[in-house]
Order: sequence, then C-alpha cells, then structure tokens
Amino acid sequence: MRAIVFEDWQKFPILKDVEVPTPGPGEVLLKVAGAGACHSDVAIYNFEKDTRGAVPPSFTLGHENSGWVEELGDGVTGVRPGDACLVYGPIGCGRCKACSRGQDTYCENAASMPYLGVGLGRDGGMAEYVTVPVRNLVPLGDADPIAAAPLADAGLTPYHAIKQALPHLNGGGKYALVIGLGGLGQIAVQILKALTGATVIATDTKEEAMRTAEAAGAITVPGGDGQAERIRELTGGRGVDAAFDFVGVAPTIKTAAAVMARQSKLTIVGIAGGSYEWSFFTTPYESQLTNTYWGTIEDLHEVVDMYKAGQITPEIERFSLDDGLEAYRRLEAGQLSGRAVIVP
Ligand code: NAD
Ligand code: ZN
Repeated sequence: MRAIVFEDWQKFPILKDVEVPTPGPGEVLLKVAGAGACHSDVAIYNFEKDTRGAVPPSFTLGHENSGWVEELGDGVTGVRPGDACLVYGPIGCGRCKACSRGQDTYCENAASMPYLGVGLGRDGGMAEYVTVPVRNLVPLGDADPIAAAPLADAGLTPYHAIKQALPHLNGGGKYALVIGLGGLGQIAVQILKALTGATVIATDTKEEAMRTAEAAGAITVPGGDGQAERIRELTGGRGVDAAFDFVGVAPTIKTAAAVMARQSKLTIVGIAGGSYEWSFFTTPYESQLTNTYWGTIEDLHEVVDMYKAGQITPEIERFSLDDGLEAYRRLEAGQLSGRAVIVP
C-alpha cells in the first residue's frame, strides 16, 4: 500500500510503498477514511534531532484519523468489520493515573513508551490502512467519517482547551478571543459558539480565514498597529475572559496578554514556542497563563456528539494519497482554506 512517510530529520516526507500492517492482539486494522494534515506534522518533520518534543523517524504521518474496521486482532470484541470510527491518537501505558482517566497525552510512563501515538512514532493514517488499539476507537455510527477526521485533533485540542476555560466564560457579558483561524482555530470558534454565550473575537493574518470565522459568528479584528486597543474597545475596556492562541509566537502571545481581563485565562495551543515575560505589575490580577496538549478520549466522545448534533462542521479540502504531499506544501505556504484531509 502507499503511505506518506517521515523518513529523516528536517526532510520533507515522501510517498512510498509499504507493507499493509497486521493488527496485533487487542488491535484492529482500519481502512483509512480520512487523515487530516496538522500543522504539528510540519514541526515533526522540520525538527532537529534533539529538539524537545521531537519524535524520531521513521514512521507514517497522520495523527488525525478516521476509518472503517477491516480486520480484528486477537482478543478483540465489541467492534465489527465495517464500523466507522474516529481514532483517539495518543497512546500511553494504559495503567497510570493519567491514562486511567483517558488522558494518554499526560501518561506518567511516556518516557518508557516506544511511541507517543498513532502518527507520532507509530505508523499513522496517511496510508490506505492503519492499525490502532481497539481502546482508541470512538464510534461514529452513521456520521460521515471523512469530514469527521479533523475532529481527532483539530476538534479535540480546542475542545479540551475551551472546556478547561469554561469557568471563565460562564455567565452573561463574557468575551473570548481566538488567534489563528486555521484547522484548529475555525473549529474553536464553532465550539465556543455552541458551548458558551460569550462574544467571540477572532483574528488571523488571512482575510479569507476571518471571513469564515465571521460566518461562524465571530467578530474579527485584523492584525497590525492598534489591534490590542481595538479588541479592548470591543469589550468595553474590560478585556477578554478567555483567549486561545493557536499560533504561539511571541507577538501573538503579547497581543493576547495585552487584552486579558482580570481573573481571565490565556491558553497557548500553538507550538511555535514564543515566550512572554510575566511580572506582578504587568499581569492583570488573578489571570492565568497556561498551555495544553491534545485532549482526553472522553473529550473526543463529546466532540463526536457535537459533530452528530451539527454543532461542529469541519470545513475540509480533500486530497488523494497521491496528492498528499501537495497538501503539506499548501499547509506550509498557508494556502489551504479548510483542513486538508487525505482520502486514500
Ligand atoms: P494551520 O496552519 O491550519 O493554522 C494556523 C493559522 O494561523 C493560519 O490560518 C495562519 O494564517 C494563522 N497565523 C499564522 N501566523 C499568525 C499570526 N502571527 N497572527 C495571526 N494568525 C496567524 O495550523 P493548525 O493545524 O490549526 O495548528 C495551529 C497550531 O496549533 C500549530 O502550531 C500546531 O502545531 C498547533 N497544535 C497544537 C496542538 C496541541 O495539542 N497543543 C495540537 C494540534 C496542533
Ligand atoms: Zn500512562
């Protein structure tokens, strides 16, 4: 079968022929329906060897997957060939406290695991088939599995971040800020509109991305001089109660920090690695600065429920596996208008 493989550090992935994998005990073989191209993949293949967070090659990319059960490994029960599923990508030890609450992302034994997850050290979904532990499947029922693929990361990650920030958005007259309206940010706007009554303010460097967010109910504010002042004005001077930075460079963190209200929460999701200088006198009282990584399998079940209820509708651009490398080129160049989903 064909697969998009990350072969070596700082090398653009390649499309090559590989063996169809065999599901091990407790695993299933999935026929891939859709595999989303995430900006984190770009970081994965551009990382230098010893960068923190780097995952050693080689493996098939794709940590945002959906598919149909094709074959059951030994001991697997409860799923049937043909079932449509979304894949919870992180794989922890399954035994520690974090894994026991469905939060494999924070597995306490991650250092001794051979990989971080599907498409993260272990072969992912940018291929015709992928094997997955049956514990990592979230059933989709009759819902369209191809458009669902982005939910596994571009839906789950903002959902988790927003859920953690909900105490700041409960009640009337609240404001949320979303910076970076790509794969994750567009879904973040939809989730904020569905879960909260907050006014959603959004920004991106791309006009088209801001038009899409407006259609989902956000008020947009372009970047440039005076941006923080304009955002603050929209909140009547008080500032925003929660902000989500899906870029994470120093200037976007600075913008968000400049518009935070007292007792607010700023969550950095983008992995660009920008930093921010915190001090007692420049930070609003009792405001929180945090980061977050992906989400729990329980969160993913809830994201699927929202998708089935029509509250989340990922906008996707389909690519065949043969055109999959083009999807990454366009993602790097900022030329996508929806999440790129490889449909083998
Ligand atoms: P994307 O390329 O689809 O979207 C990024 C968006 O940010 C684009 O619309 C781009 O125009 C916009 N942008 C870039 N620079 C900007 C700036 N200075 N100001 C305003 N907007 C700007 O990327 P994505 O797949 O949505 O991922 C977003 C970020 O989240 C990436 O850094 C990715 O690695 C990270 N990520 C983190 C997690 C996590 O668990 N923390 C999970 C998935 C992705
Ligand atoms: Zn664990």
